[in-house]
Amino acid sequence: MSLRWRGNFIGGRFVRPAAGLSMVSEDPGDLDRPLGTVRASVGAVDEAVAAAARAQPGWAATPVARRRAVLARWQRVLRRRAATLVTLIAREVGKPRWEAQREVDRFIARVDETSTMAWPRVRPYGVPVASGVRGRCEYRPRGVLAILGPFNFPAHIPGSQFLPGLLAGNTVVFKPSELTPFVGQFLAECAVAAEMPAGVFNLVQGAGAVGSRLVRHPAVRGVLFTGSSAVGEQIRRAVLDQPEKCVALEMGGKNAAILLDDADLRLAAREIAVSAFSMAGQRCNATSRVILHRRVAKPFLELFLRLVGQLAIGYPLDPGVFMGPLVSRAAVEKYRAAQARARREGYAVLRPGGTASIASRRGYYVRPSVHLCERPGPLPPSVRYRVGEIFGPDVAIYIVRSADEAVAINNEVPYGLVTSVFTRRRATFEALSPRLDTGLVNWNRGTIFSAGGLPFGGTKASGNHHPAGIFMIEACVYPVAVLEDRRPAGARDCPPGFPAR
Ligand code: NAD
Repeated sequence: MSLRWRGNFIGGRFVRPAAGLSMVSEDPGDLDRPLGTVRASVGAVDEAVAAAARAQPGWAATPVARRRAVLARWQRVLRRRAATLVTLIAREVGKPRWEAQREVDRFIARVDETSTMAWPRVRPYGVPVASGVRGRCEYRPRGVLAILGPFNFPAHIPGSQFLPGLLAGNTVVFKPSELTPFVGQFLAECAVAAEMPAGVFNLVQGAGAVGSRLVRHPAVRGVLFTGSSAVGEQIRRAVLDQPEKCVALEMGGKNAAILLDDADLRLAAREIAVSAFSMAGQRCNATSRVILHRRVAKPFLELFLRLVGQLAIGYPLDPGVFMGPLVSRAAVEKYRAAQARARREGYAVLRPGGTASIASRRGYYVRPSVHLCERPGPLPPSVRYRVGEIFGPDVAIYIVRSADEAVAINNEVPYGLVTSVFTRRRATFEALSPRLDTGLVNWNRGTIFSAGGLPFGGTKASGNHHPAGIFMIEACVYPVAVLEDRRPAGARDCPPGFPAR
């Protein structure tokens, strides 16, 4: 049975636009049972931003303890409804239940992290300036924030943006991915259940046209975007004539795991297989390259390929499933095109990818693929497989002869999100780490692992230096310098040539 589409959520009410573009939300693991249909209307953006702008001064004036209490209610609602959200994410994204559960757990934990770890990052502070003069830095909310979410973490990622945004006194207009409208609707229902004041949290459904109207809206003071580097770049260009707007971009990755000749190979094989193939490789921090020292290449590949052959592919809600489908037909096509490109660019095929069949379900299932480049050498011009994000279950192996060569391969791509280094020696890791052009560095841990209390964001085309994680709150506020001078007129400096009285 289809889910009921309730409309956009504007000013505390669900409103169905009279006209607009219909969008079907598929279950990528079971194409015969779509979730339902929603309608996108570009015009709804103006109404949602107006509602958010009306609510913002009152919300900002609400004591922070009360704003925190609203978020705590939100967390209680999430806990009560967690099982529903897990199923919804599993169906709408095609994410296996274990991963959907992890996303929901992370989202629930993020509420506490926002209060205890993010909020102190914008605590006001005072400085003595001169005798009788004090300065104070205080942080103010930006106003209305636009939040544009990706499909792959449809709850946790926008949550990691709107939770700090709301705590800091902003109001938000959230546009979920067009592939996950019902997770978006669920979040709006949580806002109702948490008794969030009308207009504080708003939701508009739609794809690029709705998103682009939202980011350019003059009343939007901050844009928090998570998605592909191509769309992030479009957004950056679209607001070039609005320099006052804060634009925080969390974008793509082409992450590597470097294995040095003293690595624990069994550990590395397991960490890399999980990081490369969980969520069918559809994570910004997925491992898509393994940079392998030639002295350990043979035993590592034996272990790794055996593991890859044992991964259970299936319907996300079935038990014992490690990897579900890709999210859409377009994602399958992109994945297949990457396979063909790898062969054209001279890679040997160690595990052929291709579509996979699952008993009694039609879906976007594919098999993990592994390619090998034995002598990478300098980056050839106009290669695409070697440098582009695939966002599918594909790994390219590069055999290298030294740590220097490993660093060069790691840094050659236009992205810089995460690098893992597998070595038994801390000193080796410490020496290599500063040479890696990347936002996160993991020692003996796969690329998909990160900690809630740390920043999350990358260099180059992976981000624009407004990291997410607990650092996101810094993009939600601006610092104001307040100067307090208690001295009478006679006690103040008088510039030369200026009348003393
Ligand atoms: P996407 O870029 O296709 O879409 C992201 C969002 O932008 C969607 O809501 C989409 O509707 C919207 N959008 C599309 N065109 C727009 C436009 N012109 N103006 C404004 N908004 C527009 O990304 P996706 O396929 O949903 O997600 C996958 C991508 O996200 C991958 O590249 C992945 O690496 C990246 N990602 C990055 C992080 C991170 O933290 N760095 C996390 C998750 C995903």
